[in-house]
Amino acid sequence: MTATILCMPFVCVYAPFEALFLPFTSHRKIACSGIRRGSFLRKIVSAIDHSRRGLVLNILVVNAGSSSLKYQLVNIANNKVLAKGLCERVGSEQSLHKHGIDENEFVYKLPLPDHTAAMRVVLDILSTGPNAVIKDMNDIAAVGHRIVHGGEFFKESALIDDDVISKIDDLAELAPLHNKAALAGINACRALMPDTPMVAVFDTSFFQTLPQYSYMYPIPYEYYEKYGIRKYGFHGTSHRYLCERAAAILGEDLNEIRLITCHLGNGCSITAVDHGRPIDTTMGFTPLDGLMMGTRSGSIDPAIVTFLMDHEGYTPEEMNTILNKESGLLGISGISNDLRSVREASDAGDPRAILAYEMYSTRVKKYIGQCLALMSGTDAIVLSAGVGENCDKMRRMIFAGWQPLGIILDPEKNKQRGFERIISSDKSKVPIIVIPTDEEYMIARDTYNIVHNRSQIVPASHYGTK
Ligand code: ADP
Repeated sequence: MTATILCMPFVCVYAPFEALFLPFTSHRKIACSGIRRGSFLRKIVSAIDHSRRGLVLNILVVNAGSSSLKYQLVNIANNKVLAKGLCERVGSEQSLHKHGIDENEFVYKLPLPDHTAAMRVVLDILSTGPNAVIKDMNDIAAVGHRIVHGGEFFKESALIDDDVISKIDDLAELAPLHNKAALAGINACRALMPDTPMVAVFDTSFFQTLPQYSYMYPIPYEYYEKYGIRKYGFHGTSHRYLCERAAAILGEDLNEIRLITCHLGNGCSITAVDHGRPIDTTMGFTPLDGLMMGTRSGSIDPAIVTFLMDHEGYTPEEMNTILNKESGLLGISGISNDLRSVREASDAGDPRAILAYEMYSTRVKKYIGQCLALMSGTDAIVLSAGVGENCDKMRRMIFAGWQPLGIILDPEKNKQRGFERIISSDKSKVPIIVIPTDEEYMIARDTYNIVHNRSQIVPASHYGTK
């Protein structure tokens, strides 16, 4: 009741004059939270809210994991990151909140029992105290959530409502940890910012145009029908960004060229993009398929799985842990999943670290080769993410010996790090381009466009500043 009364004057006074609104902001904050969902007054407040948000270009990008919550507040008008951070060990008494503004990082130890508590802390630090970057929740136009699995249902990003939430929940069977965590993030935002529109951006949707011969596995067809077992592909938001940027760097229309985009981070995937449309990608039914990664095996003979379960008595869960968390660079080197540590050891002559480098680079080479064969060539090869952007040694090994194919790395350009650049020789028929990926920008852009029902106000080709 009190809440409704507090809200009344603001509704009446504000409507025609934007400027008169501002002094009432804090009252409004209290007022709105007290208004019953669906009430007439709440609808008016919401309508005003949206009209005001039309002026606001800050998008909060949220990436919720099972025990983490990453966020970035992005101003979509100039792709400026106003603040970003990470809540770690959510669900424990020993949580950490790391918050960064420009070059400064603040670290707080505090209990964050769940994602709502984490989100509350994030909104608080964004809007209050000496390091506030916004005045209040009205300075956040919308929230974009990264969702790992959109199955066959989500072919593009979607405005979040009850139906979308229940669909993401249904799809959790395909990515139990990821989709449930994302839902925790969505629910936290819904509880704390009930009037702020939200958008779901899926890792899989970019690959929904894969041809059927590419996404089907050669196992009995009934498992596709019964369980949806097929290739979905992941890292789609990153591959999409890399395509747009590469086309801009080449000065070509994305729909007129062929690209091979390599996202080589902790998780790794390569995609063949033919005239703007992905035709194959290395990750599959899950993000375990394809390349050798930090801790993931990538593709192996599937019979190894049943052999190990037979001989070691592993449960499916234990087998999952081995393939997802104990394999890849870590499993082979026995040193680390971080390529920097593996590099130190390989430079010092450690045979398993050397082997890890050889296996990793050979697999990347092999999959790039597959993409070349599928598209009968390519107009550029793009490298991105932690390894692709930074590791000159790995890049050297990947492209070694490709002169006969007209793909020639420039050794000097290859040594540079940290910005967009062409690292192939001027004689190379195929440019090799390093592009720092920017998934958060893509999520923010999709979110803005969907909320404002606009097509691409600021294309990724406009940026590439990282
Ligand atoms: P994520 O997939 O988690 O986003 P990143 O894209 O941040 O991962 O990539 C992380 C990986 O990048 C690290 O584990 C490390 O192996 C690699 N990496 C980052 N910098 C370097 C470097 N200078 N040299 C070699 N590897 C690097």
